[in-house]
Amino acid sequence: MQTSDFDFDLFVIGGGSGGVRAARMAAQRGARVALAEVAEMGGTCVNLGCIPKKLYSYAAHFAESFEESHGFGWVGEAPKLNWETLKINRAREISRLNGIYVQLLKSAGVQTITGWATLVDAHTVAVDGQHYSAKNILIATGGKPSIPEFPGCEHAISSNEMFDLSPFPQRLLVVGGGYIACEFASIFNGLGSKVTQLYRGHQVLRGFDDDVRAFIASEMVKTGVTLHLNTDVAAIDRSGTELQVRLLDGSHITVDAVLYATGRVPLVEGLGLEAAGVKQNAAGAIQVNDRYQTSVPSIYALGDVTARMQLTPVALGEAMVVVDQLFGPAEGKQARSMSYDFIPTAVFTHPNIGTVGFSQADASEKFGKISVYRSDFKSLKHTLSGSTERTLMKLVVEDATDRVVGLHMVGPDAGEVVQGFAVAMKAGATKAIFDSTIGIHPTMAEEFVTMREAVSM
Ligand code: FAD
Ligand code: NDP
Repeated sequence: MQTSDFDFDLFVIGGGSGGVRAARMAAQRGARVALAEVAEMGGTCVNLGCIPKKLYSYAAHFAESFEESHGFGWVGEAPKLNWETLKINRAREISRLNGIYVQLLKSAGVQTITGWATLVDAHTVAVDGQHYSAKNILIATGGKPSIPEFPGCEHAISSNEMFDLSPFPQRLLVVGGGYIACEFASIFNGLGSKVTQLYRGHQVLRGFDDDVRAFIASEMVKTGVTLHLNTDVAAIDRSGTELQVRLLDGSHITVDAVLYATGRVPLVEGLGLEAAGVKQNAAGAIQVNDRYQTSVPSIYALGDVTARMQLTPVALGEAMVVVDQLFGPAEGKQARSMSYDFIPTAVFTHPNIGTVGFSQADASEKFGKISVYRSDFKSLKHTLSGSTERTLMKLVVEDATDRVVGLHMVGPDAGEVVQGFAVAMKAGATKAIFDSTIGIHPTMAEEFVTMREAVSM
């Protein structure tokens, strides 16, 4: 069939981070593009993820700022949080962003279709009974929270429900030890909840550097989070407005809300994958090759639905690779490729974690001989603030090449600090280059270029 025989050159299912970026870029290259979205435009990141989460994290940080201001001479009672105001202001900002996304698509010439999209065959998508044909189809349907089955699991809520909780949960149980559990435990602790975090393993944030894991756990406990490790929920019973939670170790805890942050699964039900012949892996994620092509050559998939790295900038990067492949690179540019090496990430706990590259354990396994540089200190700010918060910075260096292969920080604005270092690491910066870089004084970040003595080999 000729391109002109199809209604569209590209039909995108899902208006989240990856879908919007792909649709917009493809239309800007002159392709005829449609995008179907069932909910508000912007997807998880804008509506129920990164953005509202970070806004609430900012709100929560004020608690420690009010506390710390006294050491700098500020007097008076700390203001109280008005939860309703925060929710209203967040919702207003998210609506503004939804509008911007709609506008961006419109001005790029993308036809947006509201509704649930289903694959009919390799070149056809149905939305509310209407069929659309397309030369290529892109699945960017994201993921959804996964809560395990157990007695009383119907009383548990996911991160989706946390942003508009009513009333504010004075006592909150958070189950899980990953990104969302740690971030929401920190955020709601800062906003004023009495937070208990429960994790089935021996330490939170499996997969992160072991030093970072132990350090953040200890910092979160210092801020007031009660952390229960090596246990899990046996059952939840409702008693009026309270929830009685029985743990596997036999103890009980009474709370107002239970957040389950136990991972996310690809959103594929009702998508018609079988009808079109699109294959999934054992975990339900859509299988793609290194060109993001599914088992059906005209159907592509990217972002959380492929369950590689569930991060917004990864979905955006993948979208640009798909567009370059299908419609050619932007004028004067090379076709982009996606590398999954040295992807920096932050966990917006209080304090933040910022990390790029290998953990000490993974680097040692991959590179053999490594050197580790580590600094754990009280920042200048806290000499007057009265806070006991400490900052951790760590470098992992491959001995054979002197290349810095891991960089980790637990401390204020760690994500902001690590982003710049990630560029240096992508460029292959060695420890000698770090050492020859002049610091910015007085900052915390300068510690990364002034660590001279390796602590363990
Ligand atoms: P999504 O953004 O989820 O978009 C998928 C869209 O498809 C949705 O809008 C959905 O409604 C739509 N859809 C699904 N099925 C259909 C269908 N059949 N028809 C029509 N429409 C459909 N990442 C970061 O990088 N930094 C962070 O700080 C961060 N914080 C997060 C906090 C939370 C609480 C959560 C849950 C996630 C966070 N993430 C963060 C992860 C990030 O949000 C995701 O990786 C990113 O949104 C994935 O983009 P996507 O395009 O794959 O899917
Ligand atoms: P994660 O995979 O990060 O963590 C899931 C946690 O739940 C783990 O601690 C896991 O334990 C635990 N768990 C899984 N199943 C069970 C179970 N049945 N019972 C008890 N505990 C269980 O998922 P999240 O939901 O926290 O976040 C999803 C993804 O979203 C993240 O991986 C990340 O990619 C993205 N995200 C990114 C953010 C950022 O960039 N700042 C913020 C929020 C989310 P175990 O380790 O033992 O398996």
